[in-house]
This record gives sequence, structure tokens and C-alpha cells, in this order.
Amino acid sequence: MTQARPTPRPAAHTQAAGQPMIQIRDVHKHFGSFHALRGVNLDVKSGEVVVVIGPSGSGKSTFIRTINALDAHDQGTIIVDGIELNGRGNLDAIRREVGMVFQSFNLFPHLTVLENITLAPTRVRRTSRPEADARGLELLRRVGIEEQAHKYPAQLSGGQQQRVAIARALAMDPKVMLFDEPTSALDPEMIKEVLDVMKELARSGMTMLVVTHEMGFAREVADRLLFFDQGNIVEDTTPENFYQNPQHERAKQFLSKIL
Ligand code: ADP
Ligand code: MG
Repeated sequence: MTQARPTPRPAAHTQAAGQPMIQIRDVHKHFGSFHALRGVNLDVKSGEVVVVIGPSGSGKSTFIRTINALDAHDQGTIIVDGIELNGRGNLDAIRREVGMVFQSFNLFPHLTVLENITLAPTRVRRTSRPEADARGLELLRRVGIEEQAHKYPAQLSGGQQQRVAIARALAMDPKVMLFDEPTSALDPEMIKEVLDVMKELARSGMTMLVVTHEMGFAREVADRLLFFDQGNIVEDTTPENFYQNPQHERAKQFLSKIL
């Protein structure tokens, strides 16, 4: 499905030709004395779909949270679409570029589905109400739940709520979408409907970083798979290669547990 782009982007934020969409150099993050990210390096090209896996506590969430500055990194460089995350007041710019979807859908309970989706475009992008509503409905159609537009989140299933969360992130017309275990809180029968939306998004050319252990998704749409261990990327390969021939001892152990 085509995605309308009603709001032109400022030229200053346009990615330079040939530059990676995401450029991460020697990024470190501490929580007190705990060293959560230990010199992470990564380039992600425009349109690439990258799946991130690894043991619990290895830093996957921290890593993707630094990419839209939900967690500030304390050393190194992160550049998204030509914008450096420097903690000096460019938060709004970066959050317009980078959409995020969490395990716990994080919808506003007192707003309808459509209001959840139009809140940021009308407040941050200053999109007019009719335009925001039209675009919101178009996005709800894209994720297959247009008929739920005027319900409240609590009236929806978990799978529907997560699809609203995806539509809400897309409403800001992001260049990059980050997902942190988006199906982990869902009942098994709802996982597919969310993965299907994510697959469509991947095929539409969105640049995506997805923390998930859903191997079907990784195999079907991921260009790359990163294995995290102890705060760093220890394998960066294709999903096929990883599942068939993991190199790192920790990755072999991990796979033997989840397969
Ligand atoms: P993963 O997503 O791979 O399970 P996380 O990125 O959530 O791992 O966490 C990595 C490590 O950082 C864990 O040991 C976790 O306890 C620690 N950590 C994460 N967030 C915080 C925080 N806000 N304060 C203190 N420690 C944290
Ligand atoms: Mg996590």
C-alpha cells in the first residue's frame, strides 16, 4: 500500500546521498556502575530491516532506546538521517524521524484510537485536524482496523492495540521504525496479525530495527540479524546464516534454548 506523505520534510534533515540511515560509532551507556552498552558500532542503510536478538539483559532494549534518545548514550556518536543525537535540544527532530513501538502498547487510555493517532501530528507537526483525521483513518486501514477508530484502547484486543501503536508511530511519517519485542505481550493467536503488519511495512521499504525472537519474521523479511551479548553486537549476519551456523559460543547456547 502506498503511504501518503502530506508534510514535506525540512531540507536540513534530508539524508545525504550514500550515507547510512543510521550510523552508530563506539556507543557506550552506563546505568550507575553497570556498563550496559560497550562500544557498539552499526550502520543501517535506508530500507534495511534488521532483527536484533540476544539473551535477556544483554542490552537490546537499551540499544534501541538510545536510537531515539529515550536513553541518552554517554559516549560515542549516533546519527540518524543526518541528525546527530547530541542531547542538545534536537530531541523533537529525532523523534519525528524515529517511530517506536513497545512491548506494552503504551496507548493513551483516555483517548480514542483515532485521537491516539492524531495527537502527535496535530501537536508536534501542526497538521490540521481534518488532514490528521484523514491520514489517521488511512493508517488504520493500512493496519486493518479502520472500524475501531472511535473505540477506546481498553475495548480492543492486544493485537489490535499493538496495530494502533504501529499506526500511531507511522502518523509522524518516520524514516526509521524501532520495535522492542512488539509481540511478546500478545496471546499466540494475535501475534500473526501484528507480524503481518510489520512484514508489509518492511516490504514497503521502511528502515526497521526489530528486537524479536520471532524467527519466521526474521527469515522472511530481515536483511540482517544482530546477536547481542553483554552490551555489544557479537554477530552481524543474515538470519539464514545465523540460524544454520552461529559462530559465537553464546549464540549457539542461545539458539539451542529457543529452537
Ligand atoms: P535486554 O533488552 O537485552 O533484556 P536491557 O537493555 O533492558 O536488556 O538491559 C540491559 C542491562 O541494563 C540489564 O542488566 C538491565 O538491568 C540494565 N538496565 C536497563 N535499564 C536500566 C535502568 N533504567 N536502570 C538501571 N539499569 C538498567
Ligand atoms: Mg528488552
